[in-house]
Amino acid sequence: MMGRQTSDQAQLFYEFCLEDRVPDNHLLRRINGFVAAALADLHDELAPFYSHTGRPSIDPELMIRMLVVGYSYGIRSERRLCEEVALNLAYRWFCRLDLEDEVPDHSSFSKNRHGRFRDSDILRHLFERVVEACIAAGLVKGEGFAVDASVMEADASRYHGQAPDEIDWSKIEKPSRAVQEYLEALDEAGELEPGRKPPKVVSPSDPASAWTAKANKRVQFGYGLNYLIDNDHAIIVDVEATPARTYDEVASTKVMIERTNECFGLKPDRLTADSAYGTGKFLAWLIGKDITPHVTVRDLSAPKDGTFSRADFTYDKDTDIYTCPSGKTLKTTGRIHADNTYRYLASTLDCSTCPLKQKCCPNMPSRRVPRDVNEAARDVARSLVDTPEFERSSHERKKVEMRFAHLKTHHRFERMRLRGLSGARDEFHLAAIVQNLKTMAMRLTSSPAMMQAR
Ligand code: SF4
Repeated sequence: MMGRQTSDQAQLFYEFCLEDRVPDNHLLRRINGFVAAALADLHDELAPFYSHTGRPSIDPELMIRMLVVGYSYGIRSERRLCEEVALNLAYRWFCRLDLEDEVPDHSSFSKNRHGRFRDSDILRHLFERVVEACIAAGLVKGEGFAVDASVMEADASRYHGQAPDEIDWSKIEKPSRAVQEYLEALDEAGELEPGRKPPKVVSPSDPASAWTAKANKRVQFGYGLNYLIDNDHAIIVDVEATPARTYDEVASTKVMIERTNECFGLKPDRLTADSAYGTGKFLAWLIGKDITPHVTVRDLSAPKDGTFSRADFTYDKDTDIYTCPSGKTLKTTGRIHADNTYRYLASTLDCSTCPLKQKCCPNMPSRRVPRDVNEAARDVARSLVDTPEFERSSHERKKVEMRFAHLKTHHRFERMRLRGLSGARDEFHLAAIVQNLKTMAMRLTSSPAMMQAR
């Protein structure tokens, strides 16, 4: 039975060691060794961020450690992060602050974070060091990768979107960093790539974000968090920030696969992804890279009115013609439409006298069948769908979805704090760093408490 507390907290001197107060199974103690090793490797890159003149800046290592605490425990507000680090002994210990050390106030923290630190590539370097540590620890096989994207709501009001031609950027006296970055990117990009449509709605406060209703969410401005994971232990081997548009997300996968090869010498034998990645162009690119596409083919050609679909027509690749259910032929002129499609046409004479016309092309004089210029790659992907390997890959794809689910539920990461693509990039790299660190701690050290923290 507990007696009544009698101490009055007035003792002036204590025998106290912060090191002893952090339990062995605490998440921060478990990841501390990996963070220390990664930061030691980055010493030269961090050197320019130590101020030698003028007002002293925040130690970059302290800033990174505080950010790791924030992203590990879902402390999204910088003000709250500074308060929590000041109050929480384990956070202090991880940040290498003693009991009496000053914690940066939130305004200095924000100023430093959004200043030179944001212009650097330091979080990318840290992410790469962490992946290298995962590879060295045997957590990455490099055989099968999975890719997916998740929408993160931008820090932009969904009620204040405007048509691009309604915004006169030149009238903004002091454009924010997000606006400056957007305008610079527009200048560099020039003409729109074929197959791309200009955005209909733009956020004046974060114009690089995309107006989206993806993932059955309410319409909002958002960024795409793109993860490329190794299927063995779900280690995130690359991460990319894009506007929340499928086109950009698919394009970023090529960047991530090539960069993973350059950075770590890893090239997967197979890639698994959902049907958003099943375009002929992307599938052909994968096959050209000798990567087996375990990807559901995206097929928008199937009619919804019960008429014959393309699958009811037989293609002969030697003669390059389709044969219809009535045994008539459909030919193409070889002209490419919409940048990626051939059209095969039946003869009007054949169709007008055909008994199957109502089931084939009731509203047109003759039947037209579209064929992707990369249909051969789509056929390869289709041929893999019923194999055991494809089924295993589909199962493994859930691991990348779980990464996003954990990020949202355990790390409370659903809305961006920073604006602009560079802000999204910083936030997504921190998320990936923290998730990889947790996996390392979990796989390389064992503790029931750690399993709960997962
Ligand atoms: S309508 Fe034309 S394309 Fe369709 S089945 Fe008849 S002949 Fe063939």
